Amino acid sequence: MKKLILKKGREKAILRRHPWIFSGAIQSVQGQPTPGETVAVHQSDGLFLAWAAYSPTSQIRARIWSWDPEGEINQDFLSDRIQQAITLRRTWIDPSLTTACRLIHAESDGVPGLIVDKYHHSLVMQVLSAGVERWRDEIVNILVETLSPDCIYERSDVAVRQLEGFQARTGILYGSLPGQPITITENGHRLQVDLVGGQKTGHYLDQRDNRRFCQQMSAGKSVLDCFSYTGGFTLHALAGGASSLLAIDSSEAAHHIAKANLGLNQMASDSYDWITGDVFNELRLLRDQGKSFDLIILDPPKFAPTANQAQKAARGYKDINLYGFKLLNPGGVLMTFSCSGGIDAGFFQKIVADAALDAEVEAKILYRLGQAPDHPTHLAFPEGAYLKGFVIGIEG
Ligand code: SAH
Repeated sequence: MKKLILKKGREKAILRRHPWIFSGAIQSVQGQPTPGETVAVHQSDGLFLAWAAYSPTSQIRARIWSWDPEGEINQDFLSDRIQQAITLRRTWIDPSLTTACRLIHAESDGVPGLIVDKYHHSLVMQVLSAGVERWRDEIVNILVETLSPDCIYERSDVAVRQLEGFQARTGILYGSLPGQPITITENGHRLQVDLVGGQKTGHYLDQRDNRRFCQQMSAGKSVLDCFSYTGGFTLHALAGGASSLLAIDSSEAAHHIAKANLGLNQMASDSYDWITGDVFNELRLLRDQGKSFDLIILDPPKFAPTANQAQKAARGYKDINLYGFKLLNPGGVLMTFSCSGGIDAGFFQKIVADAALDAEVEAKILYRLGQAPDHPTHLAFPEGAYLKGFVIGIEG
């Protein structure tokens, strides 16, 4: 039996069902486990705590599979976890309106390090931990048996894999890949998604409900969509009756798909404005030109993946929010987001409050937003709540 023995007193988080065991909490490792191998975790007095996947190079030295002493980590165990995750989505996603969703959200679904996103009949899988790497073939088998997809495509091309000691990897794991981009439906709108060349696994599925919310707020409004990517918010704002729209993104390829997406939904992309450029610069230019808007969306990429980058990231968030406030018409609304794991909701609120102060606006949070329910946060794993959003109204 391969074992991890914890230092005295370091079992507390694990007893509260937090799934990570950091290297500094470990007293000794017995039996030379290989990467991803299942180990029994014991507290210092020898009492059994959990079963975990060992990861020799990561600071997160082991991720817990199960707290059940009788449990066995095998294909049946993984199949049960995956079925549970899929059932949860059936409850929360209406397939007549939405054909793309996250099926498995890693730690929060009890499969640490595994992301599986469903795009119509294709699945995109990300392997982010040694444990999932070890069980990758079994997981592919379970997904094929359970869902009969046309294709499973791997997008393990993210930097965090290096922390686990793995190289980036992409490619077909099962079936044949449909021609890219494919078309999905989200909240009843049609959208093109490039599973191979797109960002993340192709689409920012976590913003689905917030886009619907944006649609509800857009009637008659002049809208500025910053970091617009393939037009998720743009499309919803126009469907909601926005009177004008300007979308800004640095990626020409993203704008290209965004315009095609408008076309797919019987909207004329040349009736709206598109700027390919850096949001930080473009907001200043718009301000210099005396432009203003009723509704502004700020959905930037992750500025701070971990807490180490939080201070530098805070300057970036403050800057765009400051100009967001300056560009609002009296009575206008800012929808502002951070998907940085290293910045929690309290810190994000403070940054945005500082921006409002410098912009000299009276600003109030009207709604607090987060990720859609197919990206759940396990109660014992607050790190899972990475997407923070505020809908902020300013006085007229
Ligand atoms: N709002 C989008 C997702 C945004 S993802 C949606 O709902 O789908 C972040 C986007 O910001 C990407 O499209 C990326 O190309 C763009 N981006 C990153 N840095 C940028 C910058 N400095 N200026 C403009 N766009 C940027």
